[in-house]
Amino acid sequence: MEWIDIGANLTHDSFKRDRDAVIERARSHRVLQLIVTGASVAGSAAALELARAHPGTLFATAGVHPHYASQLSAADLPALRELLSQPEVVASGECGLDYNRNLSPREAQLRAFEWQLQLAAESAKPVFLHQRDAHEDFVAVLREHRARLAGAVAHCFTAGQRELEEYLALGLSVGITGWLCDERRGAHLQALLPRIPAGRLMLETDAPYLLPRDLAPKPDSRRNEPMFLPHIGAAVAAARGESLEHCAAYTSANARALFALPAARA
Ligand SMILES: [Zn+2]
Repeated sequence: MEWIDIGANLTHDSFKRDRDAVIERARSHRVLQLIVTGASVAGSAAALELARAHPGTLFATAGVHPHYASQLSAADLPALRELLSQPEVVASGECGLDYNRNLSPREAQLRAFEWQLQLAAESAKPVFLHQRDAHEDFVAVLREHRARLAGAVAHCFTAGQRELEEYLALGLSVGITGWLCDERRGAHLQALLPRIPAGRLMLETDAPYLLPRDLAPKPDSRRNEPMFLPHIGAAVAAARGESLEHCAAYTSANARALFALPAARA
């Protein structure tokens, strides 16, 4: 069996002291490849550096999270474009819209999102998308750009059936996290999971965030790690009434195809 974690924030400070051990633990749990999320220009450069240090195992995205959209200016675009041209960088993003906290003004978020979709189209690489409480604007912007995009995944999907159907109609893939494992917040997702076509589903931990609530025993640190991805896979397989082996096989194949990943080192 092999698993691929399409969203791990391994540049996060909480991994500073034991990052290599975290990657080794992931591999020993058959999480053989991980995509390190870039959420700012500097963070994306750090994600690329990390990917280069672990060739064939780690890959990176290059982008600016909507929280940091106001920090992105036109003068930064050449740097993002350069990052996106690197072979270890497999997607544009994380980018999108987040009106839940509005840490950047909406106009700045919309501008940064448009820019990054243009860069994605230019690079012919897929987009790693973030959306929270901004569905209408998000879908409207995506519709404008969709035909030029190589592909896209709506990461950490937690929304409802209408949102899911609109994403699928736009040809998006869907990233599922340990949110599913929360018996209160994730109950609606359990019901929605069988509606996701097997060819569109991918798995991610969003580590160090979103430690699965039903994990037992929980790590003292409460830090989520990529080694818990098979736990999320088990919840997905159960919700869809399929075997763990099947779930691992098709979610890995989907991630490998979208992000053009090489075969994993066993
Ligand atoms: Zn996100």
